[in-house]
Amino acid sequence: MFEMAASGDHPSSPPSETFPTDEKPPRLEEMLDTAHDPAYGEAVRIAGLVQRVTAANPSPFTFAGTGTYIVGRQRVAVIDPGPDDAAHVTSLLRALEGRTVTHICVTHTHSDHSPASRALAAATGAPVFGFGPHPAGDIRRGGEDPAAVTEEPGDWDFIPDVTLAHGDVLADEGWTLECLHTPGHISNHLCFALPEGRAVFTGDHVMGWSSTIIPPPDGNLGDYLRSLELLIDRGDRDEVYWPTHGPPITSPARYVRALLAHRHRRTAQILECLREGPATIPALVARMYTDTPKMLHPAAERSVLAHLIHLAERGRVSAEPDDDDRTRRYDPA
Ligand SMILES: [Zn+2]
Repeated sequence: MFEMAASGDHPSSPPSETFPTDEKPPRLEEMLDTAHDPAYGEAVRIAGLVQRVTAANPSPFTFAGTGTYIVGRQRVAVIDPGPDDAAHVTSLLRALEGRTVTHICVTHTHSDHSPASRALAAATGAPVFGFGPHPAGDIRRGGEDPAAVTEEPGDWDFIPDVTLAHGDVLADEGWTLECLHTPGHISNHLCFALPEGRAVFTGDHVMGWSSTIIPPPDGNLGDYLRSLELLIDRGDRDEVYWPTHGPPITSPARYVRALLAHRHRRTAQILECLREGPATIPALVARMYTDTPKMLHPAAERSVLAHLIHLAERGRVSAEPDDDDRTRRYDPA
């Protein structure tokens, strides 16, 4: 899922909190990559051990669609089976013909990632692995106003056969998948590292075409930043990230540093705006996203809310008691 850029540099961007000033972090805007051929329905070999079959479900949330990964040669794991889409499941089963599926792995329970696990399990008999069911704290959004929908809906029916935790290792013929618990976008998000390919399947945690939306209350910016640091802490182990949507990320460490800097810059912008006086989220969005079409402002409001919750958790802002996210006023603490 996308998270659009705030307009311009108003207010001026202060230095990042994380990096020494002599080591300027790369700018995310310059690193985004939207060149991508999904080759819908075809099994595309993208590395020695890895193929991808992309579902034809392009949208502002899924970019070109959901990329389902097949890992291994004869005995394979499938990562993110995708949406409940019979044509995609048919394409997947065609790509898997003559092979044994040993593991069906799910990065998280949004409806563009996990629902096809049921059809794939029924057709192959393979067990489904995931962190857990869709989090109870997630809000069902949508309804009357399509512009208010800011994230793919949840797959409330998902129940893994085997629950995974951080550090768990799955393995079969010629491949190993290490589970990395990476909450932030959603609390049950996992990435899967493939050491044999010096690669990480990053789900929606890190995507090359866009930054990731953090939808509160289950989406949590503090968790997300820690989950980015977790990837940085892997050092130079990984040469490539394969997100579920869009092209690979070929300078992963540099890209994650750009994502961190992007969030710290946004946080600093919000604090700068609040220093001019207490403000509501819609007022902050109107000031920060001047070049963004109004129809995208609901998504921007969710993003600003995620930042304000993070700042409040750290004691940097205070909020008036008000249950309505759109009328609550924020003040620098
Ligand atoms: Zn998602």
